[in-house]
Amino acid sequence: MRTKIFLLPFLFIWLFTPNVFSQDQEKAIRNTFHTISSNDLLHDAAVLTSPKYGGRLSGSPGYLLAAQWVADELKKAGVKPGLSDGTYLQYFPNAYSVVHSPGSLTLLPGKKNPRKEYHFPDDFFPGSNSASGTVSGEVVYVGYGISAPELGYDDYRNIDVKGKIVLMETGVPYGTNDSIQQKWEPYSYHRYKFSHAREKGAVGLLYVSMIANPNTSYLKGFVYAHVGDSVAEALFEGSGHKYAETKAAITKILQPNSFVLDRKIRISASTTYYADSRSCNVIGVIEGSDPVLKEEAIILGAHLDAVGSPGCLFPGALDNASGSVDILAAARALAASGVKPGRTIIFAFFGGEECGLYGSRKMVESPVWPKEKVVCMINLDMVGNGTGFQLANGKTFPEILRYFEDANNRYLHRDFGSSLARVSYSRPRTDGAIFDKAGYKTLHLYTSGTVKTVYYHHPLDNVEALTPEIMEDAAKLLYLGVLGLANEKKAGLK
Ligand SMILES: [Zn+2]
Repeated sequence: MRTKIFLLPFLFIWLFTPNVFSQDQEKAIRNTFHTISSNDLLHDAAVLTSPKYGGRLSGSPGYLLAAQWVADELKKAGVKPGLSDGTYLQYFPNAYSVVHSPGSLTLLPGKKNPRKEYHFPDDFFPGSNSASGTVSGEVVYVGYGISAPELGYDDYRNIDVKGKIVLMETGVPYGTNDSIQQKWEPYSYHRYKFSHAREKGAVGLLYVSMIANPNTSYLKGFVYAHVGDSVAEALFEGSGHKYAETKAAITKILQPNSFVLDRKIRISASTTYYADSRSCNVIGVIEGSDPVLKEEAIILGAHLDAVGSPGCLFPGALDNASGSVDILAAARALAASGVKPGRTIIFAFFGGEECGLYGSRKMVESPVWPKEKVVCMINLDMVGNGTGFQLANGKTFPEILRYFEDANNRYLHRDFGSSLARVSYSRPRTDGAIFDKAGYKTLHLYTSGTVKTVYYHHPLDNVEALTPEIMEDAAKLLYLGVLGLANEKKAGLK
């Protein structure tokens, strides 16, 4: 009796497992499965994060070299070029700036405060698209830096910022994901905030956000830097206001509260702006082996770019060398697999994600495969730190999710979660969101159960911040899940 109860769960899994492969095929699949190794994944992540590629800022020579490395690796693996002209690289315009040094941030001496020098990277990050030069002036706190008359909200009401340096929050003061958020969305872009501050006459900006971010505008003569909360708190001293309380009150009652701070600051930056640069996606394809199913394609995507070297190398290991090398390892396995995918598999390594999702937009606007023949798009972003998996949106697409759940249940035994797709009213933040908006069935793969400190857009996001075992299993999950999905005999899965 005990034995029978013990066997029940196995019987259950067997009955509900997608029955795609024969025993011989399973054996061949296992052979390839075991060739995926964390050693190789870590090696590839070390290559992509090396100083040679300069932090892979999209549009920069370092990024273009990294893209070529990925294209060469795809070619070596037998993955064919994904573009109709027989190349791997899909180009698009991508202006970028080189940051030559951290620059400096100085609190100038005043009646009530001594001079203070702030330090990179603990106190400030240089602006990725700051103009080169030095600005100094009185600091004005402008909350979120938004003028939205239709929402009855104006951070610049009754405040003059001409010739001043504004201290500004990122994002919008409204935090709920609903239709009201949609009205705030146009004001959530860094580019809007920067341009608006300049239109109001500010000469410089301190952005309260300690993440390097190239998704901003270069504005001639406009110098800016990123600062942490501690600098904001110090600038508030003597103003009669407390920084954290002021910010919290703005978001709570949706009422601006801007005022002049009794502090003067100087920001210096050393940059060069390249307006006419271009960048690229790297796209490879494994043509399906089934004469009918091959017309349908599965897209795996991950952004290859990172934030470059604003002040020093920002390696971009977790974000997103991890997702890139997971896909690369899956591509090698799928290409070498004894059991060939019946459907076509497309591998997309996006450029320009950090600059504003340029690469995924390009691929959606100039598709390499007819959209109506794409089964699904699976995006990987930050898949390299943790003990489990989350395949977001999977519960909305159970016909896709089942292959990945099955792969995990039978071979990987990791914590595995999923969720229903939900409408997001905020600005798109991942390449997957661009495909989602364009009407593709889109799933997002993440690692869950974070075990190491996450250094997001930070110099310490290096290979030490990765857990290679979960990357090995992510590649294995992709290999098995995609192979199952690609060989499901039912045509028209989508
Ligand atoms: Zn990312």
